[in-house]
Amino acid sequence: MDCLFCKIAAGEIPSTKVYEDDQILAFRDIAPQAPTHILVIPKVHIASVNEITGAHSALIAHIFEVIPTIAAQEQLENGYRVVSNCGADAGQTVHHLHFHILGGKTLSTEMA
Ligand code: AMP
Ligand code: ZN
Repeated sequence: MDCLFCKIAAGEIPSTKVYEDDQILAFRDIAPQAPTHILVIPKVHIASVNEITGAHSALIAHIFEVIPTIAAQEQLENGYRVVSNCGADAGQTVHHLHFHILGGKTLSTEMA
């Protein structure tokens, strides 16, 4: 499958890793939209939020258990935003599930 984030997860395309375990990887966004902009992905291919099933429950929970660890590591004690774009209207460009962690400044109060 020709998936950019599967290739990053497999180490075939380089990334600036900030966290990795057997199930997930977090790396810096190549075009940051905030001083801290990190993407958290499952290593297994899931196309988007729409493709999450009950079989992924433990994996998705794990992602959200690790996000605060990454936020602490990045000194985001003042707060941060977690975003997942799903589909065309949200502007999803990479069709491998990912959660953006944005922080390091006071973020826009507008979300849409
Ligand atoms: P989305 O628009 O929600 O699908 O987010 C995709 C994100 O992936 C964008 O913020 C891109 O800047 C980021 N991105 C694309 N290619 C790479 C790459 N090779 N390494 C890191 N981030 C990337
Ligand atoms: Zn993939």
